[in-house]
Amino acid sequence: PVLLEMRSITKEFPGVKALEDVNLVVRSGEIHAICGENGAGKSTLMKVLSGVYPYGSYTGDIIYQGSESRFSDIRASEHAGIVIIHQELALVPGMSITENLFLGNEPRRFGAIDWQAANKKAYELMALVGLKEDPDTLIKDIGVGKQQLVEIAKAFAKDVRLLILDEPTAALNENDSQHLLDLLLGFKERGITSIMISHKLNEIERIADTITILRDGRTIESLDVKGDGVNEDRIVRGMVGRDLSSR
Ligand code: ADP
Ligand code: MG
Ligand code: MG
Repeated sequence: PVLLEMRSITKEFPGVKALEDVNLVVRSGEIHAICGENGAGKSTLMKVLSGVYPYGSYTGDIIYQGSESRFSDIRASEHAGIVIIHQELALVPGMSITENLFLGNEPRRFGAIDWQAANKKAYELMALVGLKEDPDTLIKDIGVGKQQLVEIAKAFAKDVRLLILDEPTAALNENDSQHLLDLLLGFKERGITSIMISHKLNEIERIADTITILRDGRTIESLDVKGDGVNEDRIVRGMVGRDLSSR
C-alpha cells in the first residue's frame, strides 16, 4: 500500500522556482531514495513534506496514510510520525546525549525532571541505533557518525513512522556509513518507512527499493530498484555524473 503521495508540488522562493509539479509516491515499508544533482530541489521537497515550509507556502497536495495532510509546522508533521533529519544536524553541542534526546520532553516525576528515568530511556533509544556511549557524554565530544546516530535515536523518541534522512552519509566515513545503512535495513524489518536523499549509487543499490530522481525542480524518473534492477544509465543521466566517482 501507498504510505505517502505528494502530488504536483510547486514551491517558489523569491526569484527561484525550486519545485515545479513534483510527484512522489512512497510505499509503506520501503526505503525510498531521492537523488539528483545539487540544487535539484531534494531538500526543499522534504522540507515541504515535514512542515518546515507550511501548508500555504507551496501548491499541490500531500496525501499521507490515505488522507490529505496540511502540516502547519514541524510539530504537526512529527505528530503524524514524520521525522526529518536535516543535513545540518539539530543537536546542541554543549549538552549531553540524554539532554539532546529529550530537549524539553524529559520524563518528569512530581514536576521535576526524573534523570534516572531519562537515562534509562536514553539507553533504550541508544540501543536501537547501536550507540554505545555514556549518555552523559556531551555531543561535542563525540564524532559526526555518533552524532548522526543521536539524531536518529531522537526520531525514535518521537514515535517515528516515516524517517527522512537528508544526505545522512555525506560527512561520514566508510564504517559509519555502513552502520547507518544497516540500521535503515533493520528499521525496514520493523515496518519503518524511510526516505533517504543520496547521491551515492552504491548506497542506493544496496538499500533502496525505489528511486525518484529530481532535476531542476522536476521529477524525471521513478524506478523500482528491487523489481527492475538499477538501470545505471538512466540514473546516471538523471544525476548528470555528480558524485559517481564514489563508486
Ligand atoms: P538540493 O537539496 O537538491 O541540493 P535544494 O532543495 O536545497 O536542492 O534547492 C533547490 C533550489 O532552491 C536551489 O536553486 C536553491 O538555491 C533554492 N533554494 C533552496 N532553499 C532556498 C531558500 N531558503 N531561499 C531561496 N532559495 C532557496
Ligand atoms: Mg544541496
Ligand atoms: Mg539538499
